[in-house]
Amino acid sequence: MKVTKHRDKILEALREWFRIHKQAPTLEELCVELEMKPQQKATLQRRLQTIRGIDVDWDDNVARSLRLLNLDPEGEPGLNIPVTETLRYLATGLSDWGTLEPKKRSQIPQSLRLGMSRMYLTSLLQGNEQVPSNIPEFFDWSKKPVVEWEATTEIPHLSPEVTLIEDGLLSDFALQWQVTGSDVENQVQEKVLQDVLEHCRANQLEEAYRALRKLIIESPVLPYTEFRRIISSTQLRPLRDFLLKIYVDLVDLVEDKTYHFCPRCKYVMHKYKNTYICRSHTCEKISAKQGLSCLPTISKEDAEELKVVTPGVHRYGTIPGIWELDLAQKLTKLGLRVTLWPEIDEFDLLVEFSKKIRWAIDVKDWSYLDEERLKKVDYRHDMAETFVVFPHERDDLLRIKVRRPQLEPELGGVRLMLISEIINLAEQNLRKKNHA
Ligand SMILES: [Zn+2]
Repeated sequence: MKVTKHRDKILEALREWFRIHKQAPTLEELCVELEMKPQQKATLQRRLQTIRGIDVDWDDNVARSLRLLNLDPEGEPGLNIPVTETLRYLATGLSDWGTLEPKKRSQIPQSLRLGMSRMYLTSLLQGNEQVPSNIPEFFDWSKKPVVEWEATTEIPHLSPEVTLIEDGLLSDFALQWQVTGSDVENQVQEKVLQDVLEHCRANQLEEAYRALRKLIIESPVLPYTEFRRIISSTQLRPLRDFLLKIYVDLVDLVEDKTYHFCPRCKYVMHKYKNTYICRSHTCEKISAKQGLSCLPTISKEDAEELKVVTPGVHRYGTIPGIWELDLAQKLTKLGLRVTLWPEIDEFDLLVEFSKKIRWAIDVKDWSYLDEERLKKVDYRHDMAETFVVFPHERDDLLRIKVRRPQLEPELGGVRLMLISEIINLAEQNLRKKNHA
């Protein structure tokens, strides 16, 4: 078994120590146990730091508080550190760090500390110590392609281009990892959207649910009067309390002299270096490609009249929703009957060619092909086809056509397509149906 010598020795020494002593050793005593010289104390401390939170922990500035976390007397404590899990900690950690007020950024969030320790340990286990050991190094590392870290070779379908940080913001890749993580203490996926879904399911509010989803996609920014009209409308009044949480005052969210809005998603932009960019990297890419220019800027005074969705709702509701609405519109234009989020979000789009021929479509705004999550998509036996579709704009990272032959056989009938392909397929089907 491949084991780091240092970690192994430390844990062995600690287990031996606790067999005899009730109290934890001091650093000096542990040095002696490990037959290390007293001047190697700092080295030992550094080694302990790399396994802190995983195998050992202690209270800062409390003497003799060192303890083993994995007190399994027989077996080896968790030697297997899945790199996917480490990436989740890192992504969540970066996100947690990003939400800290600038003043508090010297405190490293627990998730980031755990992620970095695990990363360090993984590299030690693989006999390669070339990973960041402090926060500045880690931020530099985060801007480089993830694949440069040797440990990630075991992750399938990883594009050589993805990084954790892009343009000073958490990358879409990092966001995707963060959402995937169900084992991270801090569940970060937008809670209010989950609450809306549960409430609507419990009370069978299908129309209200659909109206709310559409609203946050089409109008992430709303004048106050309009917002007030909407929350008292017959359709959305049942979800009023949720809408009051989803929409906040723009000036409370962003403080600036002027406000800039993204031409694609219409959401308030974020100041980066000397310019303004959308919080969504996809928006930035698409706006650049299509030559879209920003919406008119708004003065601070006018901004006081505006409500905006929270950044979390923008990220998990507005941005992925743009693809869903766009696809629905394109298929409707072909003359198909399309229902968005049918049966209160069982899937994204129900497409009906006839009463008998119906498709279930899930749209995934991914930057990494997550096999585990794909396997969780249910094949709909009541439909002619079940598709998971991806935006064409993501294909440089996903490479659907290349990976499809290998992936599809594992998915129990679920098919993978690009949005452009699904539109072509719908057209073909319509032609066949009209000829028949
Ligand atoms: Zn945008």
